[in-house]
Amino acid sequence: MLLTISTTYSPATDLGYLLHKHPSRIQSFELSFGQAHVFYPEANTERCTAALLLDVDSIGLTRRPRGQFTENFALAQYVSDRPYVASSFLSVAIARVFGSALSGRCKERPELAETAIPLSAKLAILPCRGGEKLLRRLFEPLGYTVTTEHQALDTQFPQWGQSRYFTVTIENICRLSELLTHLYILIPVLDDEKHYWVDEAEIEKLSKRGSDWLAAHPEQESIVRRYLKHQQRLTSQALAQLCEKDNQETNEATQAEEEQVEERIGLNEIRLTVVTEILKQCGAKRVLDLGCGEGKLLRKLLAERQFEEIVGMDVSHRALKTAQKRLQYDRLPEKQKERIRLFQGSLGYRDKRLGGYDAAAVVEVIEHLDLPRLAVFERVLFEYACPRTVVLTTPNIEYNVKFENLQAGYFRHKDHRFEWTRDEFQSWAGKVAERFGYTVVFHPIGPTVEDIGPPTQMAVFTRKA
Ligand code: SAH
Repeated sequence: MLLTISTTYSPATDLGYLLHKHPSRIQSFELSFGQAHVFYPEANTERCTAALLLDVDSIGLTRRPRGQFTENFALAQYVSDRPYVASSFLSVAIARVFGSALSGRCKERPELAETAIPLSAKLAILPCRGGEKLLRRLFEPLGYTVTTEHQALDTQFPQWGQSRYFTVTIENICRLSELLTHLYILIPVLDDEKHYWVDEAEIEKLSKRGSDWLAAHPEQESIVRRYLKHQQRLTSQALAQLCEKDNQETNEATQAEEEQVEERIGLNEIRLTVVTEILKQCGAKRVLDLGCGEGKLLRKLLAERQFEEIVGMDVSHRALKTAQKRLQYDRLPEKQKERIRLFQGSLGYRDKRLGGYDAAAVVEVIEHLDLPRLAVFERVLFEYACPRTVVLTTPNIEYNVKFENLQAGYFRHKDHRFEWTRDEFQSWAGKVAERFGYTVVFHPIGPTVEDIGPPTQMAVFTRKA
């Protein structure tokens, strides 16, 4: 079984630091079910590939206690794909051989371990119970580009059709620890099998390795169910834990605190009025409010007849419930109800529901995203959803000195992962526009102070024809 991981990050040989394996050496590891070898088929500054080769002891496997596999036919022990395909054996090997990289630790290049870099992983043979559709439904929402080659059951007998095996390449700009984590969890999920007994300890692993991406994954339930080998009790327990964590986190992201800081100048109201005006001017009829929070912008949009279809999306279930209440959704006349829709979703995942809109507002949201996830957000919005107009606002950190009730050195909200200066924001937005074929212009929002700028900065992106 072969897994290769490549990068074109420059210098690409830094992959050796991230994996804690020197590119010029071959290293071997003893595992309970065979041996793992790590080597680099290519290692130069432009491109570097590390290979993890698993040599599973096929004779040893037949001596393992019966009942470990669900394959249930007389010769199952002798006609087995286990030594040759990506399975839970590979996940164990990843954890054992690339343990530090999996956890995002890197002594020599700590900042690189935190950086999203171009990565691809190729699995020579991956069994997919559920076929290519499931394979894509698992990896694409995480931002991966997936390339597959379906393997015939037997090339000598084409009439037998296709097997459940694929050669798969996944590519993404992400942290190495994310790539390894996704493989670690999703390989056994696709295989829908495990070589060991599954109990509560498996929930621990899911929660440890999946806590920051599983809760918002559209296939969360089937991932959890398959990972826990369809044990109903464990599955319910794991799903409840994920849900609890999600609620805790979104609770922290309530907006009251931020509004307190900004309220003296009524900034929220000014911001939403300006955004509504821009959306009207660009002629949009079908609009998205991404990270809609408690629905204040949605209310303004609903009051404008120009907007025929209004969609609010937020990662927080709680915020959406509040939005629904604020809109008095249940009491709206049918005609109004038809114009507006709310759903839960995350900007960290590619989402088909976001395609085909004229414009999107992303108001005071990006600063809530982890910086390394920003690259995924960019693709989700500008490459996949790609509305004609994007109106995006974020705090201008230079203005923070003007907020008397904000302690020096603090962000405006404890959930903010960053706040940018005007230069930082404009440089980011310029790069995004160029990469995805948009033009961008900037507008200040709120009272502009000399040398400091406005409290809120806004970028309006327009897709080139
Ligand atoms: N746009 C609203 C709310 C801003 S607060 C307004 O201006 O009033 C930020 C919002 O972004 C919160 O509701 C939070 O739940 C949401 N959010 C944070 N991360 C998100 C993500 N990955 N996907 C979608 N929404 C997210």
